[in-house]
Amino acid sequence: MVPGSGGGLTVPMRTQVAVIGAGPAGLLLSHLLAAGGVDSVVVESRTRAHVESRIRAGILEHSTVGLLRSAGLGDRLLREGDEHRGVYLQWPGERHHLDFVDLVGRGVWVYGQTEVQKDLGRARDAGGQQVLYDVRDTAVHDPADPHVTFTLDGRARRLDADVVVGCDGSFGPTREVVPGNTWQRTYPYSWLGVLADVAPSTDELIYAWHPDGFALNSMRSPAVTRLYLQVPAGTDLAQWPDERIWDALAARLGHGQDGWELRRGPITEKGVLPMRSFVRAPMRHGRVFLAGDAAHIVPPTGAKGLNLAVADVALLAPALVALLAEKDPRLADEYSDRALRRVWRCTHFSWWMTTMLHANEDPFDAQLQLSQLRWVASSEAGARGLAENYAGLPIGF
Ligand SMILES: Cc1cc2nc3c(=O)[nH]c(=O)nc-3n(C[C@H](O)[C@H](O)[C@H](O)COP(=O)(O)OP(=O)(O)OC[C@H]3O[C@@H](n4cnc5c(N)ncnc54)[C@H](O)[C@@H]3O)c2cc1C
Repeated sequence: MVPGSGGGLTVPMRTQVAVIGAGPAGLLLSHLLAAGGVDSVVVESRTRAHVESRIRAGILEHSTVGLLRSAGLGDRLLREGDEHRGVYLQWPGERHHLDFVDLVGRGVWVYGQTEVQKDLGRARDAGGQQVLYDVRDTAVHDPADPHVTFTLDGRARRLDADVVVGCDGSFGPTREVVPGNTWQRTYPYSWLGVLADVAPSTDELIYAWHPDGFALNSMRSPAVTRLYLQVPAGTDLAQWPDERIWDALAARLGHGQDGWELRRGPITEKGVLPMRSFVRAPMRHGRVFLAGDAAHIVPPTGAKGLNLAVADVALLAPALVALLAEKDPRLADEYSDRALRRVWRCTHFSWWMTTMLHANEDPFDAQLQLSQLRWVASSEAGARGLAENYAGLPIGF
């Protein structure tokens, strides 16, 4: 890549792969391409500090951890992450543990997306590949012979590339140049998520059905708890002072049930996350590809968003190395179909978990949900289906 110079004029640059977005998909793709001898430049609209502090996902599937380890990104994860054998499913009066390791031979890891981002950022620093943060006006042009334009430090830039990959999340610009079909569903509820400086009250995640609405008790570290409450779509955070949040969590998570107690502590972060499913296909047009949230969104109930982004990149990186280094287009041609197979499996699983666990004011649905929860918790076949999907399918599924 040769940066140009040019007071006032557009500054031209060239690379093999222009990656839009330095989220987990974009940085991991750049890292894997470098390992395969392919040059890339990542263009990101936010600052590095912002990207590395966004509180989002926190559950890594077995195959995600395997990929990060094989890419040399697993040291801190293995040291500081927490391996979980399964999850608890509960409804008023009952709590059941599903042991994924016993059921399907693999568990999951609790390791925050913020930490994945920091590990990827440090690997990029060490690898010397370029990440341009804080850019403006990103646009992707001409999918047959692509280039990207943006503004950096007030100067117009043009990045020419053999391939452009949109890893720019659900609102990025790349999807606009990839025509295709869209499938989506918006759910009538959101999650109110909080981070609290208090030791988790549980050793593994608790997914709680409750007539007032779903609640999830998760964690980020031995000293930090992550908790979620189902709230109506469009909820205003101002209506939820900390005390109301803790009281609702205590009721829905069963504080006092069989002696279990919800520990309370200072809330350090609060946000409302809308729930929707979205799939765009195909995930390629000409020499422009999509990966991660740029192509698909799932409601977070199945803990799939970050893992799907990693799985896309695990397919796309070798495909681009074959295309650009070996002039072999076969894997690139198969990428969209192969990725979408997993995307739809995870879209279904996320919808299934969501509709099983969220209250919707329909008493008939409530009885069906409880019946399904009892079946999953008491039947090995039911439990295994949940475990297989939650712990994650192999990358090549
Ligand atoms: C608020 C929120 C909370 C979430 N919570 C959970 C959760 O609890 N559990 C869970 O499993 N999943 C959760 N997710 C989903 C999970 O975080 C995503 O699936 C994951 O981040 C996908 O990674 P990605 O790299 O594809 O996209 P992103 O992480 O969204 O990265 C896209 C990047 O592109 C950049 N970008 C956007 N537009 C431009 C542009 N014009 N030019 C340059 N760069 C651009 C963005 O700034 C961003 O850095 C959450 C997502 C959000 C948004």
